[in-house]
Amino acid sequence: MIELLAALALQIASADPIAEVINADAGFPMASEATEQSRFSCIGDYIEGAAIICRAEPGSVASLGDQSATADEEGWLVLGLNRDSETEMEFSIRFPDGVVQSSTHEITQREYNIQRIEGVPPQTVNPPEEVWALIREQSRMKAAAYTSRWDGNGFAEGFIQPAEGVITGVYGSQRFYNGEPRRPHYGLDFANEAGTPVYAPASGVVVLAHADMYYEGGLIFIDHGQGFTSAFLHLGSVDVEVGDIVAQGDQIGEIGAGGRATGAHLDWRIKWRNRYIDPALVLELDPASLR
Ligand SMILES: [Zn+2]
Repeated sequence: MIELLAALALQIASADPIAEVINADAGFPMASEATEQSRFSCIGDYIEGAAIICRAEPGSVASLGDQSATADEEGWLVLGLNRDSETEMEFSIRFPDGVVQSSTHEITQREYNIQRIEGVPPQTVNPPEEVWALIREQSRMKAAAYTSRWDGNGFAEGFIQPAEGVITGVYGSQRFYNGEPRRPHYGLDFANEAGTPVYAPASGVVVLAHADMYYEGGLIFIDHGQGFTSAFLHLGSVDVEVGDIVAQGDQIGEIGAGGRATGAHLDWRIKWRNRYIDPALVLELDPASLR
C-alpha cells in the first residue's frame, strides 16, 4: 500500500505542474489530470498472504498477476496474494471507458514456521484406503463451493475475529513428516472449549455447511463476495445451511474437535480464487477508509 500510495503521489506530483501550465495558458480548469489519478484507491500491503481491497468505478476490472476481479455496483473489489508469491507482480486496472493503469509491486516475502518431525508411523500419515472415495467426494464438494462468486460485498465491512480463543496456529506454517512436506497450514487457529460460539467475521452467503467432514469435522464456507471465502473447520455444531445469508456477528456454529483435529479449536481460513489469504492480515484491514 505504501508503494502504491507513493507511486500515485509521484504521478500526481509530476502531473501537477503540467496541469498548472495548461490551466494558465487556457484560462480554464483542467481537472482531467487529477481525476485520472483518483479513479481508484486500495488498502492492503503487497505482502505474501495479503488481501487488497479496492474501490473504483463500477465495472472496472483489476488484476493482480493472472487473477482478476470486477468492481461491483458500489465500486468494491477484492484481490489477494498467495502464501508463496513471486517477488514482483503487476497490478492493473481497466476502467469502463477502456483506460488502463498499471503498476509493478514488489511483494514482501515472508518466512514461515517450518517443523520437521521424524519417526512418524506411516499409518498416521496417510488415511486408510476405505475412506479414499469419501475423501475424493468431499474434496469435489469443497472445490465446487469455492467456485461461488457472491455478488454481495461483505468483505467491504471489514472483518471481526470469529471466535474467542488462544491463537495456537498461524498461516503459512508447514510440517515435514519423515522428510515429506505436508500441505502448509493456511488457517488461523483459535483454541477454546468445545461449544464456544463461532460468529460470521463479515456478512456473506453460506456455500457449504456439513456436520462431519472426514478431515474438517463440522465445516462451513461463507462467500463474503466475489469468491472471497472463509472456511471454518472442526466445528462441533453447524448452525447454518447452504444458501443462508449471514450478517457480521451472527452465530454460525460452535467450536469442536471434529475431523482430524487434535483438540477443540477453530481453524479459520480464507481463500480467494486459488490463493489462500492470511486471516490475520485481513483482520487488520479497514475498508471504511475507502468509503
Ligand atoms: Zn488449524
